[in-house]
Amino acid sequence: MAKEIIKRTKPEIAKSPDGLEGPGFFATKLEDVVGLARKNSLWPLPFATSCCGIEFMATMASHYDLGRFGSERLSFSPRQADMLMVMGTIAKKMGPTLRQVYEQMAEPRWVLSVGACASSGGIFDTYSVLQGIDKIIPVDVYVPGCPPRPEQILEGVLKIQEMAQNESFRRRESEEYKRMLNSYGIE
Ligand code: SF4
Repeated sequence: MAKEIIKRTKPEIAKSPDGLEGPGFFATKLEDVVGLARKNSLWPLPFATSCCGIEFMATMASHYDLGRFGSERLSFSPRQADMLMVMGTIAKKMGPTLRQVYEQMAEPRWVLSVGACASSGGIFDTYSVLQGIDKIIPVDVYVPGCPPRPEQILEGVLKIQEMAQNESFRRRESEEYKRMLNSYGIE
């Protein structure tokens, strides 16, 4: 997979969804078109607190170039972002801020936990470090490693893209999704 990601050096034209076509027309499902647009225009909010953030800088830079996947537009405002990327050690004191950022993001939103620290506290099994951000917010994809290489971060973004493309319109309104948010104390 990593080699595959590096090989994709040129921007790819997104494939159109399945549908009916003929001379001068193409018909498909609205959900598929929206999924295609969401997939290829994820706006990341980088919540980078330590070394994993440096790997993210490499992921954004010219060699790996996250922009090839439509995510070059970073947002430092939660209201204009739909993919929260948490990278680094999250101290318990920082937890409420992270949660506030998540709550301020509009639906649909996805969360990528990058690296061992964000996913589990990593080597910092101490009183002051949150032992995984999923203690306070739901996580969609975990990227393992300390630090994860940029290829791994890209692979995590590709997984989120897959989820964004295939997500049904109804998911965010479903009882199951609401129950999951409620389990975090989020209305
Ligand atoms: S997972 Fe490793 S590289 Fe990433 S923030 Fe923690 S200590 Fe640093």
